[in-house]
Amino acid sequence: MERYVKIEDISDGKRYKSNDMAKLGCNECEGCSECCHNVGESIILDPWDVYMLETNLSCGFEGLLGKYLELKVFQGVILPYLLLDEKEGCHFLNEEGRCSIHGFRPGFCRLFPLGRIYENGSFSYFLQTQECKKERRTKVKISKWLGIPNLSSYEKFICEWHYLVKDVQELAKQMEGQGLKEWNLYLLQAFFAAPYEERDFYMQFGKRYEEARKRLDS
Ligand code: SF4
Ligand code: SF4
Repeated sequence: MERYVKIEDISDGKRYKSNDMAKLGCNECEGCSECCHNVGESIILDPWDVYMLETNLSCGFEGLLGKYLELKVFQGVILPYLLLDEKEGCHFLNEEGRCSIHGFRPGFCRLFPLGRIYENGSFSYFLQTQECKKERRTKVKISKWLGIPNLSSYEKFICEWHYLVKDVQELAKQMEGQGLKEWNLYLLQAFFAAPYEERDFYMQFGKRYEEARKRLDS
């Protein structure tokens, strides 16, 4: 979810990098599942999230749609979101109030209560101070909190994907009808529906990204 707010109003005002420590530790959410119950429309998935779900659930994009994911339009661009139950809770939350896909949960869930602020072609992390209900949080290194292998490649991917979607959203403001529909079909097909092999995700994404950039430039 994107928010257009002053960072000072929702955070401690600092910008963090993955090697920094931040007050994130919440005793592994013991006894709490608040942020998985009331997620609103907030969990937009990126190609890495979908790749992780497909690989770990042994299921293609088509199989995920309608069962775990749904498509919604965000600023003219169609993107997959986590499908929620009627009370805006996540389908992956089990009866014990724990995430049943913890090992391959989406990047947005890994971040929480961190957010990302995008500036000058890059991004930093920031700490949302009013989101997690636990008190007395302990300091944890952000890279450890995220628990994502090969984090530098992941962060490069996050940046490329964010700015690509931004550029298509800008294009969507000038396009309508068939042109916009074709762009949306292209993005969905190239980055989500076309399966990724289990080998290096970032290399496969990189090739698709280069093609999308060429297409955008032309
Ligand atoms: S509100 Fe905080 S403690 Fe509760 S589930 Fe979310 S991150 Fe964990
Ligand atoms: S995928 Fe897991 S961590 Fe994310 S909202 Fe659902 S239950 Fe919570």
